[in-house]
Formats: sequence, C-alpha cells, structure tokens
Amino acid sequence: MKAAVLWDVGQPLSIEEVDLDPPKTGEVHVKVGAAGICRSDLHVMKGEATAKLPVVLGHEGAGTVLDVGLGVTSVKPGDRVILSFVPNCGRCFFCVSGRVNLCDVHAATGGFLYDGTTRLHKGGERITHQGKVACFAQETIVPESGCIRIDDSVPMSVAAFIGCCVTTGVGAAMFTAKITPGQTVAVIG
Ligand SMILES: [Zn+2]
Ligand SMILES: [Zn+2]
Repeated sequence: MKAAVLWDVGQPLSIEEVDLDPPKTGEVHVKVGAAGICRSDLHVMKGEATAKLPVVLGHEGAGTVLDVGLGVTSVKPGDRVILSFVPNCGRCFFCVSGRVNLCDVHAATGGFLYDGTTRLHKGGERITHQGKVACFAQETIVPESGCIRIDDSVPMSVAAFIGCCVTTGVGAAMFTAKITPGQTVAVIG
C-alpha cells in the first residue's frame, strides 16, 4: 500500500509503497477514508516534537474496518470508525482508575503498537506509527481502543476531524477553561 513517510526531520513527506503486516491480537486493520493535517504533524516534520523516525504521520483520521485480530469484540469488518491517538491499554494504574488519557503503556510505547513492534516496514526497516494512528496511508493497523465505531451516516471527512481537532478543542474548553453553558467566550485560532 502507499503511505506518506517522514524519513528525516526537515524533509518533505515521501509518498511511496510500504509493507503493512496483518493485525495481531487486539489490533484492527482499517482502510483510511479521510485524514486531517494537524499542526502537530508539522511539529514532527520540523523537529519541534520528537518521533522515532522513519514514521508515518497522521493522527486525525477515520476509515472502514477491513479485518480484526484475535480478541477484538467492539468492531467488525465493514464498521466505520474514528481513529484515536489516545488509545488505552485498559490495565495500567491510570486506565483502571478512569484516567485513560494518561495510559502508562501508551506513553511508554509511543509510535509502536502495544507489543513494542510496528506493522509498517520498508525493505526490512521498521517504520513507526504516529500516535498509533499513522493515517497518512491507504491502510493502517491500530489498537482496538484506538478505533471507535460511528454511524454510517457520518461523512468520513467530518469523522476524521473528531480524532484530534474537535476533541482537543472541546477538551480545552470544558476541562482547561472550564466553560459552562451560557458563558460568553472569545475563540482565537
Ligand atoms: Zn492533532
Ligand atoms: Zn493503560
């Protein structure tokens, strides 16, 4: 399949053929339907944020499930899903205490899947998955908790936005600024 690979900081993305392994236990194979470009992608390209290179960027996307690994129960082939760059292992201290956005295992594994390996390769070299999403590609492999089923009526381009743009903005408004209904606010951006 084709993917946009960042081989080095300061270089443009290179759209080329790469290999994608099948999903392992607890993983989902998704055909990408839409992907948004986020400032965070540019931060990585410019070296302002770190990522293990080479990497397939793209952490705001939506798509259709093609295949699932062993143990996956929440989605099935044909389901439309939003991809999330904040998946959670469900078992660490933060996950079991309800603060899944702070998942230790996700933080420790970063652009690798939960078993510490990647499903993306090129000529024997491993390529990492930005935020375990890597949606600047025709297909991707994500953890089950990193894909959320949506209604068939939601357009892919709208669903993709929810993966980062909408949730980041809503989270900042609700939890950081603590905006409540009826308040008057200025939106800068
Ligand atoms: Zn983003
Ligand atoms: Zn966790």
